[in-house]
Amino acid sequence: MQPVTCNLFKHNSENCVTNSTNFVFYFKKLGLRTVVCRPLTMNILAIESSCDDTSAAVISNGKICSNIVAGQLIHELYGGVVPELASRAHQQHIVRVVDKAIQDAKITKKDLNAIAFTRGPGLLGSLLVGTSFAKAMALALDIPLIEVNHMQAHVLAHFIDEPRPAFPFLCLTVSGGHTQIVLIKDYATMEVLGETQDDAVGEAFDKTAKLLGLPYPGGPLVDKHAKLGNPLAYEFPLAEMPQYNFSFSGIKTSILYFLKKKTAENPNFVAENLNDICASVQHTLVRMVLQKLRRAARELGIKEVAIAGGVSANSGLRKTLHEMGEKEGWNVYIPDFQYCTDNAGMIAMAAYFKYLKGDFSSQEVSPLPRMEWG
Ligand code: ADP
Ligand code: MG
Repeated sequence: MQPVTCNLFKHNSENCVTNSTNFVFYFKKLGLRTVVCRPLTMNILAIESSCDDTSAAVISNGKICSNIVAGQLIHELYGGVVPELASRAHQQHIVRVVDKAIQDAKITKKDLNAIAFTRGPGLLGSLLVGTSFAKAMALALDIPLIEVNHMQAHVLAHFIDEPRPAFPFLCLTVSGGHTQIVLIKDYATMEVLGETQDDAVGEAFDKTAKLLGLPYPGGPLVDKHAKLGNPLAYEFPLAEMPQYNFSFSGIKTSILYFLKKKTAENPNFVAENLNDICASVQHTLVRMVLQKLRRAARELGIKEVAIAGGVSANSGLRKTLHEMGEKEGWNVYIPDFQYCTDNAGMIAMAAYFKYLKGDFSSQEVSPLPRMEWG
């Protein structure tokens, strides 16, 4: 094997000899030239700041070693995320969150081989904090920078632990900003088959909670009350949308009118029936997303089925998906709770696959609030 100059690791080029103990070499055809080297221990620091969670994680040779998430309580006062306040809170949290992630991984900054960050989609101000921090850190340490698509990372969270889905698989991505059925062909090739035409299902949970007087973010609280209620107590209409698309604005309006009517008859209606209302709304929302997922899986003949995103933490969705999977003969993949809502662990996992391919970003990179699936 010929010693080669390492194109991607110029800063380490003096180490790039075949008998180095610090590096293993693998050679890859890149036109007429062969490239590249890969450190024996590969540590990537990942930063997530797309919405209202500041998170940092370290992945070492494909294994998550730390995953720190700092939430932002300030938004509870306003019943939703206030973008400007989110960016300021990210600035306050980011240094401590990154330090803790490095410390918990039992490494130092000098051991890092790359810095990854969420480029989008998300709130511009929030993304700017993580992006600028990652760029500055990569520049200061003279190591590569890796941009990650937040939605792809939600899907790739399934590769953090066993069992891992086999390609191609279907993934229902359900969060505060997305509701999509995505065909995952490989680590980098993902095709959106259908999506919401208005609100996301997480928004439907959060808006229902708001109507019921529950604090933000209401999704987990609706889930908590639903566990104690009757899912068939009240009926809400299921929106019919073409192909694999969804709509949640209608159900939101029907819940609003339902509550207006019931509280006019009995002002204590919500307090007296909170568990049943939550259980019935949750039952409807879960049916809406899973019916579409089943249709897609049947029509495409796919038996590997996953869910991802904040709403995949919902107990009703998890349980019903398991039951549906058994009936349909699917292998079902549901992420661990810590990897459902926004976290840097999933960004680190996605970055690891990009690192293996040498897929790095330049210092010119800027956030993309509406970043599309790759
Ligand atoms: P983003 O949408 O910013 O990417 P996440 O992926 O963390 O954020 O998803 C947040 C959404 O997930 C919120 O709408 C929240 O209410 C919802 N959510 C989190 N846990 C649950 C749960 N147990 N039941 C229903 N919704 C939930
Ligand atoms: Mg998310």
